[in-house]
Amino acid sequence: MKNIIIVGAGAAGLIAAITAAQNGAKVTLLEQKDRIGRKLMITGKGRCNITNTADKNTFIKNIPGNGKFLYSAFDSFFNEETVELFNNIGVPTKVERGGRVFPQSDSAVDVVDRLKEKLYELDVNLRLNTKVTKLIIKDAKLTGIQTIHNEILQADAVIMTAGGASYPLTGSDGSGFVLAQQAGHTIKDLTPSLVPLESDIPWVKTLQGLSLRNVRLTVFIDNKKSEDVFGEMMFTHFGVTGPLILSVSRKIAMALKKNKDVYLSINLKPALTPEQIDARIQRDFIKYTKKQIKNAMVDLLPHKMIPIILDLAYIDGNKQVNDFTKKERMQLVEILRNLPVDVTKTRPLAEAIVTCGGVNVKELNPKTMQSKLIDNLYFAGEIIDVDGYTGGFNLQAAFSMGYVAAMAVTQE
Ligand SMILES: Cc1cc2nc3c(=O)[nH]c(=O)nc-3n(C[C@H](O)[C@H](O)[C@H](O)COP(=O)(O)OP(=O)(O)OC[C@H]3O[C@@H](n4cnc5c(N)ncnc54)[C@H](O)[C@@H]3O)c2cc1C
Repeated sequence: MKNIIIVGAGAAGLIAAITAAQNGAKVTLLEQKDRIGRKLMITGKGRCNITNTADKNTFIKNIPGNGKFLYSAFDSFFNEETVELFNNIGVPTKVERGGRVFPQSDSAVDVVDRLKEKLYELDVNLRLNTKVTKLIIKDAKLTGIQTIHNEILQADAVIMTAGGASYPLTGSDGSGFVLAQQAGHTIKDLTPSLVPLESDIPWVKTLQGLSLRNVRLTVFIDNKKSEDVFGEMMFTHFGVTGPLILSVSRKIAMALKKNKDVYLSINLKPALTPEQIDARIQRDFIKYTKKQIKNAMVDLLPHKMIPIILDLAYIDGNKQVNDFTKKERMQLVEILRNLPVDVTKTRPLAEAIVTCGGVNVKELNPKTMQSKLIDNLYFAGEIIDVDGYTGGFNLQAAFSMGYVAAMAVTQE
């Protein structure tokens, strides 16, 4: 019977532990927190977006951080296998908009509870409050690990599933990277991804709490158009967030790291041509003909935005609608279609949904997740330099890698 140690009871570690135990291994799962799956419990706003129904190629496209490294892993264990596994352990699933798969219960806690029951059923030796502080390696061969309690545990193989460095309170505090480095692995530069953005522009902060739906967001990096997306965003006390912002944040984080200039252009009326917006303004101004300009725009914009937009368009909002010039109308149309927001930085890695960077994929065998440097050492999950967009892509990546590593370890 193979004696396997798995470091970290998150998404990848839990699937690895279940798979290895189902294949007859003696599994010890070490977790530094007092509970398993702490990050899993907050995924999908507490609903856990387990995977996505997209095909393999679409999946890989949605994993901009080394998605291609996962081809083999996805051949072994993909979204259908994930759904089957969860259905089998008592988590019926459902599919929502964009192919996103959730538990029918809408409860991430439910997902973690069922995984925990499965660990017990399979007799996995789960040890909580047990941080791994050292990998014991001799002559490029791993023989075991040392815990924070100075205990040494021997193993035939160790799977490192310690996660990334975002949301450290959930346990993924980056200590896995230190252990990987200690084993001689290169850690690719850590950068936040799926992260809110900061702006120094004072008016941005005054819009705190305001959500914009159905807007178009264009990202300019060093004045060159980089991304163009449509959807929902939100202003906060530090800058901007929301689905649109998270989706473009990876590229922006990379650009800011290289000291490039980044600004966003928001089109508040993307469904209308400039002429249609102009006609719309004129209709509103006929309706509010005896009012001041600032009071004639209540149908066009959220209340909080009116003084800001007028200011940016160099229009005196106290003027009467009758005195509004054609030139001013054109200025207004322009700003409604191109509201510029300078981005100064991203929020810190601790606030990112995923960590971009990690163990260099070139140092791992993609078919087994085995280290090419150290015998008996395997990696799976966010600790590896692989990161995807929102939509269930990151969890599926972690599950697939965890499964492949466990199969390799037990079948070797
Ligand atoms: C707010 C939020 C929402 C998200 N929502 C989604 C979503 O809906 N869908 C999706 O696909 N992805 C989502 N993600 C991303 C996804 O949660 C992660 O990519 C995934 O959890 C990574 O799995 P993992 O097993 O590699 O790491 P983790 O799940 O982070 O697990 C790592 C585990 O290792 C333990 N550990 C770390 N170091 C040690 C050590 N030295 N010794 C012992 N134990 C250790 C940690 O305590 C932790 O339990 C979300 C992330 C966040 C932060």
